[in-house]
Amino acid sequence: PIKSKVTVVGSGNWGSVAAKLIASNTRKLSSFNDEVRMWVFEETLPTGEKLSEVINRTNENVKYLPGIKLGENVVADPDLENAVRDANMLVFVTPHQFMEGICRKLVGKIREDAEAISLIKGMEVKREGPCMISTLISEQLGINCCVLMGANIANEIAVEKFSEATVGYRKHKEIAEKWVHLFNTSYFMVSAVQDVEGVELCGTLKNVVAIAAGFVDGLEMGNNTKAAIMRIGLREMKAFSKLLFPSVKDTTYFESCGIADLITTCLGGRNRKCAEAFARNGGKRSFDELEAEMLQGQKLQGVSTAKEVYEVLSHRGWLELFPLFSTVHEICIGHLPPSAIVEYSEHTPKFS
Ligand code: NAD
Ligand code: 13P
Repeated sequence: PIKSKVTVVGSGNWGSVAAKLIASNTRKLSSFNDEVRMWVFEETLPTGEKLSEVINRTNENVKYLPGIKLGENVVADPDLENAVRDANMLVFVTPHQFMEGICRKLVGKIREDAEAISLIKGMEVKREGPCMISTLISEQLGINCCVLMGANIANEIAVEKFSEATVGYRKHKEIAEKWVHLFNTSYFMVSAVQDVEGVELCGTLKNVVAIAAGFVDGLEMGNNTKAAIMRIGLREMKAFSKLLFPSVKDTTYFESCGIADLITTCLGGRNRKCAEAFARNGGKRSFDELEAEMLQGQKLQGVSTAKEVYEVLSHRGWLELFPLFSTVHEICIGHLPPSAIVEYSEHTPKFS
């Protein structure tokens, strides 16, 4: 039988961990080719060396995942076209804002029989309305696209601490099972659900709630307030997802991609961390500035997602239905102070 060839498109913090996970499996499983190609958005390090060359020499992503060996079968490739040419399994894992440009470059460059999976938490808002990243990939490249989301802080999985993840698929269970097979390890337990929109929206929207949780931390409001914010946030996540896609299943919120990811991100994620600093500074330092200083090249998704969600809400006349989501955006852009996160004077939550 012909072996599947995997390429990871992206090599940031999570991208590098995903490549490591996958590479540990392709070495063991006979249905996959050993080599895992990882596309690297090339940059020059302060030493003057190219990042992709250093990854291939040291087997470490020294910038985005220092101290972790990726596995000798991971090959960094700065040439996007070359990286995807032979692959029939494409794993997309870049910050969401870069995916439109990447898809544009990939049109006509991938195998006709390619299958995709997106690990990207975020969405695009177009004139026609919101577009999930898996849909962008699917439509622009003409391929099927599953998603994998979950309570997955990359640095913890990098050191092989146990966690779970959820694959969301649209129609073909056997394709979802192939992805589960590729990702599942003894410390990374993956299950599949037939609810691609539900899974992807959970992963996307929890980043907005994590910003709110960070504000609460920065204002030192305590655990009860943070739990309240998480609960209200989860309710808005569910309501928003179901308004956009009535097919979204209630059970999805109890998978790793739902409640578990919400909890871990509100406790230990990068969105939470930068939002905490934002609130501590009374909103006087912008998220762009804090991101650059605190994350050193890694990217926040929650601030832009809050903006994207806000656009959808205002366009559809739903702002009042989503006080938490809309307040997060208004705080991020400086129209409201961070303390507004618990002041719903003009907005009353409408869902119970
Ligand atoms: P990251 O936050 O580490 O971002 C840095 C990456 O962005 C680098 O690979 C960099 O080369 C790349 N980049 C910068 N400018 C670029 C450009 N112009 N074009 C293309 N690429 C560019 O990335 P990440 O942590 O791998 O996150 C990718 C996705 O995975 C995000 O949607 C994130 O929400 C999601 N995710 C992250 C984690 C985590 O813990 N890091 C966990 C689960 C999901
Ligand atoms: P942050 O991007 O906030 O670090 O969240 C990571 C994540 O998605 C964990 O599942």
